[in-house]
Amino acid sequence: MSVCHGHLILFDSKCILVNFCDTIRRLIHSFERAQSMRIHTLDLDFLNTPNTIASYLIVGSGGPVLVETGPGSTIETMKTRLSEHGVSPSDIKYVLVSHIHLDHAGAAGWWAQQGAQIFVHHVGAPHLIDPAKLLASAGRIYGNLMDPLWGKMLPAPEDRVTPVFDGDTITVAGLSFTAIDTPGHAYHHHVFQLENVAFTGDAAGIHIPGPSFVDLPAPPPEFNLELWQQSVERLCELDVDSIYPTHFGRVGDWRGHLETFSKLLDSSSAFVRVRLESGLERAEIVEAYLAWHRERMDSAQIGDTLMKRYEVSNPLYMSVDGIIRYWRKRLPGSQPGSTGA
Ligand SMILES: [Zn+2]
Repeated sequence: MSVCHGHLILFDSKCILVNFCDTIRRLIHSFERAQSMRIHTLDLDFLNTPNTIASYLIVGSGGPVLVETGPGSTIETMKTRLSEHGVSPSDIKYVLVSHIHLDHAGAAGWWAQQGAQIFVHHVGAPHLIDPAKLLASAGRIYGNLMDPLWGKMLPAPEDRVTPVFDGDTITVAGLSFTAIDTPGHAYHHHVFQLENVAFTGDAAGIHIPGPSFVDLPAPPPEFNLELWQQSVERLCELDVDSIYPTHFGRVGDWRGHLETFSKLLDSSSAFVRVRLESGLERAEIVEAYLAWHRERMDSAQIGDTLMKRYEVSNPLYMSVDGIIRYWRKRLPGSQPGSTGA
Protein backbone atom coordinates (compact mmCIF):
# COMPACT_ATOMS: atom_id res chain seq x y z
CA MET A 1 0.00 0.00 0.00
CA SER A 2 1.27 3.45 -0.80
CA VAL A 3 2.36 5.78 1.95
CA CYS A 4 -0.38 8.14 3.02
CA HIS A 5 0.59 11.57 4.21
CA GLY A 6 -1.24 13.98 6.45
CA HIS A 7 -3.54 16.56 4.88
CA LEU A 8 -3.53 20.23 5.74
CA ILE A 9 -7.02 21.70 6.11
CA LEU A 10 -7.75 25.42 6.44
CA PHE A 11 -10.63 26.11 8.77
CA ASP A 12 -11.45 29.47 10.39
CA SER A 13 -7.90 30.61 9.70
CA LYS A 14 -6.58 27.79 11.79
CA CYS A 15 -4.50 25.00 10.40
CA ILE A 16 -5.64 21.60 11.44
CA LEU A 17 -3.50 18.66 10.58
CA VAL A 18 -5.55 15.64 9.91
CA ASN A 19 -3.92 12.37 9.21
CA PHE A 20 -6.24 10.25 7.16
CA CYS A 21 -3.93 7.27 7.11
CA ASP A 22 -5.47 5.45 10.05
CA THR A 23 -9.00 6.12 8.88
CA ILE A 24 -8.33 4.88 5.37
CA ARG A 25 -6.41 1.85 6.60
CA ARG A 26 -9.30 1.05 8.94
CA LEU A 27 -11.87 1.35 6.19
CA ILE A 28 -9.89 -0.92 3.89
CA HIS A 29 -9.34 -3.41 6.69
CA SER A 30 -13.05 -3.31 7.60
CA PHE A 31 -13.96 -3.95 3.99
CA GLU A 32 -11.56 -6.88 3.79
CA ARG A 33 -12.96 -8.30 7.02
CA ALA A 34 -16.51 -7.92 5.77
CA GLN A 35 -15.49 -9.89 2.71
CA SER A 36 -13.95 -12.72 4.73
CA MET A 37 -16.73 -13.31 7.24
CA ARG A 38 -20.48 -13.15 7.44
CA ILE A 39 -22.54 -12.84 10.63
CA HIS A 40 -26.08 -14.19 10.68
CA THR A 41 -28.43 -13.59 13.59
CA LEU A 42 -30.42 -16.77 14.17
CA ASP A 43 -33.75 -16.16 15.86
CA LEU A 44 -34.42 -19.15 18.13
CA ASP A 45 -38.02 -18.04 18.62
CA PHE A 46 -37.88 -18.89 22.32
CA LEU A 47 -41.37 -19.68 23.69
CA ASN A 48 -42.72 -18.83 20.23
CA THR A 49 -41.62 -15.26 20.83
CA PRO A 50 -39.41 -13.71 18.15
CA ASN A 51 -36.37 -11.52 18.86
CA THR A 52 -35.77 -12.84 22.38
CA ILE A 53 -32.83 -15.28 22.21
CA ALA A 54 -30.28 -15.16 19.41
CA SER A 55 -27.55 -17.47 18.34
CA TYR A 56 -24.95 -16.07 15.98
CA LEU A 57 -23.74 -18.01 12.97
CA ILE A 58 -20.45 -16.68 11.70
CA VAL A 59 -19.14 -18.08 8.47
CA GLY A 60 -15.40 -17.73 8.17
CA SER A 61 -12.99 -18.81 5.46
CA GLY A 62 -12.74 -22.20 7.19
CA GLY A 63 -16.43 -22.83 7.79
CA PRO A 64 -19.18 -21.92 10.25
CA VAL A 65 -18.91 -21.09 13.96
CA LEU A 66 -21.75 -20.64 16.44
CA VAL A 67 -21.73 -18.08 19.24
CA GLU A 68 -24.37 -19.06 21.84
CA THR A 69 -26.45 -22.20 21.53
CA GLY A 70 -29.73 -21.14 23.09
CA PRO A 71 -31.53 -23.61 25.37
CA GLY A 72 -32.21 -27.29 24.71
CA SER A 73 -35.84 -26.42 23.97
CA THR A 74 -34.88 -24.54 20.78
CA ILE A 75 -32.64 -27.14 19.13
CA GLU A 76 -35.21 -27.94 16.42
CA THR A 77 -35.63 -24.23 15.63
CA MET A 78 -31.86 -23.89 15.54
CA LYS A 79 -31.64 -26.70 12.96
CA THR A 80 -34.25 -24.96 10.81
CA ARG A 81 -32.45 -21.59 11.06
CA LEU A 82 -29.14 -23.21 10.12
CA SER A 83 -30.69 -24.97 7.13
CA GLU A 84 -31.92 -21.57 5.89
CA HIS A 85 -28.23 -20.71 5.55
CA GLY A 86 -27.31 -24.02 3.96
CA VAL A 87 -25.65 -25.27 7.15
CA SER A 88 -26.35 -28.66 8.72
CA PRO A 89 -25.59 -29.50 12.36
CA SER A 90 -22.69 -31.73 11.31
CA ASP A 91 -21.03 -28.67 9.71
CA ILE A 92 -20.76 -27.01 13.12
CA LYS A 93 -17.36 -27.89 14.57
CA TYR A 94 -16.91 -24.92 16.91
CA VAL A 95 -19.24 -23.31 19.40
CA LEU A 96 -18.49 -20.40 21.75
CA VAL A 97 -20.75 -19.55 24.69
CA SER A 98 -20.62 -16.33 26.71
CA HIS A 99 -21.64 -18.09 29.93
CA ILE A 100 -23.43 -21.21 31.04
CA HIS A 101 -26.92 -19.92 31.82
CA LEU A 102 -29.54 -22.08 30.15
CA ASP A 103 -30.70 -19.46 27.65
CA HIS A 104 -27.12 -19.14 26.35
CA ALA A 105 -25.56 -22.57 26.71
CA GLY A 106 -28.39 -25.00 27.49
CA ALA A 107 -27.83 -26.79 24.18
CA ALA A 108 -24.01 -26.80 24.43
CA GLY A 109 -23.93 -30.45 25.59
CA TRP A 110 -26.07 -31.47 22.63
CA TRP A 111 -23.64 -29.76 20.24
CA ALA A 112 -20.69 -31.37 22.03
CA GLN A 113 -22.33 -34.78 21.66
CA GLN A 114 -22.63 -34.05 17.91
CA GLY A 115 -18.86 -33.57 17.88
CA ALA A 116 -18.53 -29.78 18.16
CA GLN A 117 -15.81 -28.25 20.33
CA ILE A 118 -17.27 -25.94 22.96
CA PHE A 119 -15.32 -22.89 24.14
CA VAL A 120 -16.52 -21.69 27.53
CA HIS A 121 -15.31 -19.68 30.52
CA HIS A 122 -13.01 -21.86 32.65
CA VAL A 123 -15.28 -21.45 35.70
CA GLY A 124 -18.32 -22.60 33.73
CA ALA A 125 -16.57 -25.48 31.90
CA PRO A 126 -17.06 -28.16 34.63
CA HIS A 127 -20.80 -27.41 34.67
CA LEU A 128 -21.15 -28.21 30.98
CA ILE A 129 -19.36 -31.51 31.53
CA ASP A 130 -21.56 -32.33 34.54
CA PRO A 131 -24.62 -30.07 34.53
CA ALA A 132 -26.21 -31.68 37.63
CA LYS A 133 -25.44 -28.78 39.97
CA LEU A 134 -26.46 -26.16 37.42
CA LEU A 135 -29.75 -27.96 36.76
CA ALA A 136 -30.46 -28.38 40.48
CA SER A 137 -29.94 -24.67 41.04
CA ALA A 138 -32.11 -23.71 38.03
CA GLY A 139 -34.71 -26.25 39.20
CA ARG A 140 -35.07 -24.39 42.49
CA ILE A 141 -36.04 -21.27 40.55
CA TYR A 142 -38.16 -22.76 37.75
CA GLY A 143 -39.62 -25.93 39.30
CA ASN A 144 -42.05 -27.68 36.94
CA LEU A 145 -41.33 -25.14 34.23
CA MET A 146 -37.76 -26.42 33.73
CA ASP A 147 -38.64 -28.71 30.85
CA PRO A 148 -41.07 -26.50 28.91
CA LEU A 149 -38.74 -23.54 29.23
CA TRP A 150 -35.33 -25.05 28.75
CA GLY A 151 -35.72 -28.59 27.41
CA LYS A 152 -32.90 -31.04 28.07
CA MET A 153 -29.39 -29.99 29.01
CA LEU A 154 -27.11 -32.87 28.06
CA PRO A 155 -23.64 -33.38 29.52
CA ALA A 156 -20.75 -32.45 27.24
CA PRO A 157 -17.95 -35.03 26.81
CA GLU A 158 -14.91 -33.65 28.65
CA ASP A 159 -12.63 -33.68 25.61
CA ARG A 160 -15.18 -31.58 23.73
CA VAL A 161 -14.94 -28.68 26.21
CA THR A 162 -12.14 -26.11 26.01
CA PRO A 163 -11.86 -23.84 29.09
CA VAL A 164 -11.28 -20.22 28.11
CA PHE A 165 -9.40 -17.56 30.09
CA ASP A 166 -9.33 -13.77 29.92
CA GLY A 167 -7.40 -12.57 26.86
CA ASP A 168 -7.34 -15.97 25.16
CA THR A 169 -7.48 -15.92 21.41
CA ILE A 170 -9.64 -18.63 19.92
CA THR A 171 -8.70 -19.18 16.29
CA VAL A 172 -11.18 -21.42 14.51
CA ALA A 173 -12.52 -21.67 10.96
CA GLY A 174 -10.24 -18.81 9.89
CA LEU A 175 -11.71 -16.50 12.56
CA SER A 176 -9.93 -15.11 15.64
CA PHE A 177 -12.07 -14.41 18.69
CA THR A 178 -10.62 -12.72 21.78
CA ALA A 179 -12.18 -13.56 25.13
CA ILE A 180 -12.79 -10.65 27.50
CA ASP A 181 -13.62 -11.51 31.09
CA THR A 182 -16.77 -9.54 31.90
CA PRO A 183 -18.24 -10.52 35.29
CA GLY A 184 -21.28 -8.80 36.77
CA HIS A 185 -24.23 -10.70 35.32
CA ALA A 186 -22.36 -13.89 36.25
CA TYR A 187 -18.84 -14.46 37.54
CA HIS A 188 -18.18 -16.73 34.59
CA HIS A 189 -18.90 -14.45 31.64
CA HIS A 190 -16.93 -13.67 28.50
CA VAL A 191 -17.50 -11.21 25.73
CA PHE A 192 -15.94 -12.35 22.46
CA GLN A 193 -14.42 -9.78 20.17
CA LEU A 194 -14.17 -10.77 16.54
CA GLU A 195 -12.43 -8.17 14.44
CA ASN A 196 -14.66 -5.07 14.49
CA VAL A 197 -17.59 -6.56 16.41
CA ALA A 198 -18.16 -7.99 19.89
CA PHE A 199 -20.61 -10.66 20.98
CA THR A 200 -21.61 -9.42 24.39
CA GLY A 201 -23.79 -12.19 25.83
CA ASP A 202 -25.57 -10.45 28.73
CA ALA A 203 -22.68 -8.15 29.70
CA ALA A 204 -24.06 -5.18 27.76
CA GLY A 205 -27.62 -5.79 28.92
CA ILE A 206 -30.60 -6.31 26.67
CA HIS A 207 -31.89 -4.43 23.66
CA ILE A 208 -34.72 -5.90 21.61
CA PRO A 209 -35.07 -4.48 18.07
CA GLY A 210 -37.40 -1.50 18.26
CA PRO A 211 -37.23 1.89 19.96
CA SER A 212 -34.11 2.81 21.88
CA PHE A 213 -34.30 1.02 25.23
CA VAL A 214 -32.03 -0.99 27.49
CA ASP A 215 -32.96 -3.62 30.06
CA LEU A 216 -30.93 -5.07 32.94
CA PRO A 217 -30.75 -8.85 33.39
CA ALA A 218 -29.60 -9.18 37.02
CA PRO A 219 -30.61 -12.67 38.15
CA PRO A 220 -29.50 -14.24 41.42
CA PRO A 221 -27.11 -15.41 42.66
CA GLU A 222 -24.17 -13.69 40.99
CA PHE A 223 -25.30 -10.17 40.10
CA ASN A 224 -22.52 -7.82 41.17
CA LEU A 225 -22.82 -4.07 40.61
CA GLU A 226 -19.14 -3.11 41.01
CA LEU A 227 -17.81 -5.93 38.85
CA TRP A 228 -20.40 -5.21 36.19
CA GLN A 229 -19.53 -1.52 36.05
CA GLN A 230 -15.87 -2.49 35.63
CA SER A 231 -16.87 -4.83 32.81
CA VAL A 232 -18.80 -2.02 31.12
CA GLU A 233 -15.68 0.16 31.35
CA ARG A 234 -13.70 -2.59 29.66
CA LEU A 235 -16.30 -2.83 26.91
CA CYS A 236 -16.16 0.95 26.37
CA GLU A 237 -12.49 0.59 25.49
CA LEU A 238 -13.12 -1.87 22.68
CA ASP A 239 -12.26 -0.87 19.16
CA VAL A 240 -15.40 -2.17 17.46
CA ASP A 241 -18.13 -0.86 15.18
CA SER A 242 -21.04 -2.73 16.72
CA ILE A 243 -22.01 -5.18 19.42
CA TYR A 244 -24.27 -8.23 19.39
CA PRO A 245 -26.10 -8.85 22.67
CA THR A 246 -27.70 -12.29 22.83
CA HIS A 247 -31.02 -10.54 23.56
CA PHE A 248 -31.16 -9.49 20.72
CA GLY A 249 -29.25 -8.69 17.54
CA ARG A 250 -26.83 -6.04 16.38
CA VAL A 251 -26.55 -2.68 18.16
CA GLY A 252 -24.82 -0.02 16.07
CA ASP A 253 -24.85 2.85 18.57
CA TRP A 254 -23.12 0.68 21.12
CA ARG A 255 -21.44 3.52 23.00
CA GLY A 256 -24.76 5.27 23.61
CA HIS A 257 -26.25 1.90 24.57
CA LEU A 258 -23.48 1.22 27.11
CA GLU A 259 -23.78 4.70 28.57
CA THR A 260 -27.51 4.20 29.15
CA PHE A 261 -26.89 0.72 30.46
CA SER A 262 -24.29 1.87 32.98
CA LYS A 263 -26.76 4.44 34.35
CA LEU A 264 -29.45 1.77 34.52
CA LEU A 265 -27.15 -0.50 36.53
CA ASP A 266 -26.77 2.26 39.11
CA SER A 267 -30.38 3.40 39.13
CA SER A 268 -31.86 -0.12 39.34
CA SER A 269 -29.52 -1.06 42.17
CA ALA A 270 -30.31 2.16 44.03
CA PHE A 271 -34.04 1.68 43.47
CA VAL A 272 -33.96 -1.69 45.22
CA ARG A 273 -31.51 -0.60 47.92
CA VAL A 274 -33.61 2.34 49.08
CA ARG A 275 -36.67 0.12 49.42
CA LEU A 276 -34.79 -2.62 51.23
CA GLU A 277 -33.40 -0.08 53.66
CA SER A 278 -36.84 1.31 54.32
CA GLY A 279 -37.99 -2.18 55.27
CA LEU A 280 -40.15 -3.10 52.29
CA GLU A 281 -40.85 -6.80 51.66
CA ARG A 282 -39.67 -8.54 48.52
CA ALA A 283 -43.19 -8.59 46.99
CA GLU A 284 -43.56 -4.84 47.52
CA ILE A 285 -40.19 -4.15 45.92
CA VAL A 286 -41.07 -6.33 42.93
CA GLU A 287 -44.35 -4.47 42.49
CA ALA A 288 -42.65 -1.08 42.66
CA TYR A 289 -39.89 -2.20 40.28
CA LEU A 290 -42.46 -3.46 37.74
CA ALA A 291 -44.33 -0.17 37.90
CA TRP A 292 -41.12 1.79 37.44
CA HIS A 293 -40.11 -0.32 34.45
CA ARG A 294 -43.53 0.06 32.88
CA GLU A 295 -43.10 3.83 33.15
CA ARG A 296 -39.66 3.59 31.54
CA MET A 297 -41.10 1.47 28.74
CA ASP A 298 -44.07 3.77 28.24
CA SER A 299 -41.86 6.80 27.90
CA ALA A 300 -39.69 4.90 25.40
CA GLN A 301 -42.88 4.02 23.50
CA ILE A 302 -42.43 0.30 23.96
CA GLY A 303 -45.79 -1.25 23.04
CA ASP A 304 -47.31 -4.45 24.43
CA THR A 305 -45.71 -6.79 21.86
CA LEU A 306 -42.26 -5.47 22.55
CA MET A 307 -42.89 -5.38 26.27
CA LYS A 308 -43.64 -9.10 26.15
CA ARG A 309 -40.38 -9.74 24.29
CA TYR A 310 -38.43 -7.94 26.99
CA GLU A 311 -40.26 -9.88 29.68
CA VAL A 312 -39.61 -13.24 27.95
CA SER A 313 -35.93 -12.36 27.58
CA ASN A 314 -35.62 -11.25 31.17
CA PRO A 315 -38.39 -11.65 33.77
CA LEU A 316 -38.21 -8.45 35.81
CA TYR A 317 -38.87 -10.12 39.16
CA MET A 318 -35.68 -12.08 38.67
CA SER A 319 -33.60 -8.94 38.44
CA VAL A 320 -35.18 -7.73 41.66
CA ASP A 321 -34.25 -11.02 43.32
CA GLY A 322 -30.68 -10.73 42.06
CA ILE A 323 -30.30 -7.17 43.30
CA ILE A 324 -31.91 -7.93 46.67
CA ARG A 325 -29.49 -10.80 47.17
CA TYR A 326 -26.58 -8.54 46.28
CA TRP A 327 -27.59 -5.88 48.84
CA ARG A 328 -28.46 -8.35 51.59
CA LYS A 329 -24.86 -9.47 51.57
CA ARG A 330 -23.62 -5.91 51.93
CA LEU A 331 -26.01 -3.74 53.90
CA PRO A 332 -25.49 -3.57 57.65
CA GLY A 333 -28.12 -5.54 59.54
CA SER A 334 -29.14 -7.50 56.43
CA GLN A 335 -28.61 -11.22 56.25
CA PRO A 336 -27.83 -13.04 53.04
CA GLY A 337 -30.77 -15.33 52.58
CA SER A 338 -33.63 -16.41 50.44
CA THR A 339 -34.92 -13.84 48.04
CA GLY A 340 -38.19 -15.68 47.76
CA ALA A 341 -37.37 -16.76 44.20
ZN1 LIG B 1 -29.44 -14.21 28.97
